[in-house]
Amino acid sequence: MNKIKNIQRDYNIQEIKKNMSILDVANEFGLKLKRSGKSYFTLCPMHVEQTASCSLVPNSDSTKDYFYCFGCEAGGDQINLFASLSPMSNREAINYLANRYGLSQEQPLPEPIVREYARNKRDRSVERNFLINYKQVFYDLCTIRDSVNNLIKQYEFIELLVDDELVIKYYQDKEHYEEILERLQEGLFEKINFNKQIEVFIEAKGVLTKWKKLLQKR
Ligand SMILES: [Zn+2]
Repeated sequence: MNKIKNIQRDYNIQEIKKNMSILDVANEFGLKLKRSGKSYFTLCPMHVEQTASCSLVPNSDSTKDYFYCFGCEAGGDQINLFASLSPMSNREAINYLANRYGLSQEQPLPEPIVREYARNKRDRSVERNFLINYKQVFYDLCTIRDSVNNLIKQYEFIELLVDDELVIKYYQDKEHYEEILERLQEGLFEKINFNKQIEVFIEAKGVLTKWKKLLQKR
C-alpha cells in the first residue's frame, strides 16, 4: 500500500512541476526578479539580505527547474520553494498543489499565507560570504592548473601526452580556463562587487566543478 502511495506521490511531483514553473512560484509570491543570463536573482526568502543572491533557474522543461541561494546555500525545486514561501512542509505543499492541479483525490489544505520576512534588516553576511567564496574559487582553479601543469612536466616523451585524456582535455579547455582566471583576477584587483562579479563567479564555479570531477576520476 505504501509503495503505491509513493509511486502516486512521485507521479504527482512530476505533474505538479509540469503545471507550475519556478517563475510561476516567484510570480505567485511576488518575488522581484532580476534577469542574469539564463537565471534570475531575487532577495532570498530564506534569509535576510539586501543584495539578491538567490538564483532561480527555469528550464524549457519545467520539471528541471531549481533555485539556489549563494548566501545561505538553500536550494531545491519549485515545490521546495513554494513550501518555503508558504507555511507548509514539503509534503503538505505536494498535497496542496496536487489538489490545485486536479491530480489528487485527497482532502485539500487551506490557501497558503505568504510567510513574512524582514526585507529591510541590514545584513552584510552575503557580501562577506561572496568575497570568501570568490577568493576560494580563484585559489582552487589556480591549484588545479598548477597540478595539471606539473603532471605534464612529468612526461618524458611528448608522444605519451596524447594518451592522457586529462591532458588533452586541459589543452582543449586551456583558453577558456585562462580567460576565467583572468576575469576572476580582474575582480580581485577592484573592490569585490556582488552584482558585477556574480556572473564570472557562476561561470568559474561551473569550470571548477567540471575539473574537480575530471580529477576525481583519475
Ligand atoms: Zn538565502
